[in-house]
Amino acid sequence: MQSEENDMVILTDRNALRAWVAQQRSSGHTLGFVPTMGALHAGHLHLVDQSRAHTDRTVVSIFVNPTQFGPGEDFDRYPRIPDQDQRLLRQGGCHALFYPDVATIYPEGFQTTVRVEPLGSDLCGRERPGHFQGVATVVTVLLNLVKADKAFFGLKDYQQFVIIRQLVRDLSMDVAIEGVPTVREEDGLAMSSRNRYLSIEDRRRATAISAGLAAARTAFMAGEREAGRLEAIARRIMVEAGIHRIQYISVRSASTLLPMKTIDSEGVILTAVKVGSTRLIDNMLLM
Ligand code: AMP
Repeated sequence: MQSEENDMVILTDRNALRAWVAQQRSSGHTLGFVPTMGALHAGHLHLVDQSRAHTDRTVVSIFVNPTQFGPGEDFDRYPRIPDQDQRLLRQGGCHALFYPDVATIYPEGFQTTVRVEPLGSDLCGRERPGHFQGVATVVTVLLNLVKADKAFFGLKDYQQFVIIRQLVRDLSMDVAIEGVPTVREEDGLAMSSRNRYLSIEDRRRATAISAGLAAARTAFMAGEREAGRLEAIARRIMVEAGIHRIQYISVRSASTLLPMKTIDSEGVILTAVKVGSTRLIDNMLLM
C-alpha cells in the first residue's frame, strides 16, 4: 500500500517500504530514520530536523510496539492521533512515514527476541522487566527494514539510546546511531507523549523532576563529585514538590551506564518517577 500527499509517502507494508528505500538508494540519496510511537511533539520533530539536516531523505516510523509494554502498562490507552501526526510530519518535511500494523512487524510465527544484557535489566529495566527486549527487538526489525545511513534517537530516553548503540555495535549493523538532546517545555519538563496524561496539579508538580536534576547538575558544575550527594540534592527537590514515588535517581557513567561513586569521567544523572498514575523519566549529562 502506498499513498502520496504533499510529497510525504505513507507506507504500511514491508514490501512498499523496501521498494521505496531501494528507489531512494538508486537515486543516490542518503537515508535518515526516526523511529517513534506517534503522538508527536516538538521533541520528535527535532529528531526529524536533525535527520533532514544530516541526510537527504527522512523516514519516520510510527508504531506503538506491544512487546515493550508490560502487563498493566498503558499500551491500550497510549495516545494514537494519526491524522495530527501525519500533518506535523508533512509540515516537518518528512519524506516517508512507515505506519505498519502489529502483524506487519510481528507476522505469525515470529520467534526472535533481541536482549541486551545486563544493560537492559538495570534502571528502567528493573521496573519494567522485558521492556528493553521489546525495544531492542522492534528497533532491530525497523533498522533492518529501513537500512538507513543514520538513525536518530532522543537522549531523553538515555538508557534506550545506550542500549541501541550497544546492539548496533554487537550485531555489526551498518547504521550510525545519533543521539539528539532533549527538547523541554518552557518550565523544563522534558517533552513526552505521556505528559498529556497529567492532571493540572501533577503537571505543576512534574516540573520538580527537571528542577531536581538541574540542581544536581549545578552542584556538579560547582565541584561536587560524589554521586550520593548529587542524587540527594535531586531527590530533596522532588520530594519537597510532592513527588514521593521515585523509582530511581542514579548517577552513572554516561558511556556505559555503570554506577559511579565519584564522578571522574563523563556522567549522567537519571531518574524515573511516578506522578499520579503517569511514569516519567528524565536525565541530565554531567560533563
Ligand atoms: P517515543 O515516541 O516516545 O518512542 O519516542 C521516539 C523518539 O523520540 C525516541 O528516540 C525518543 O527518545 C525521542 N524523544 C521523545 N521525547 C523527546 C524529547 N523531549 N526530546 C528529544 N527526543 C525525544
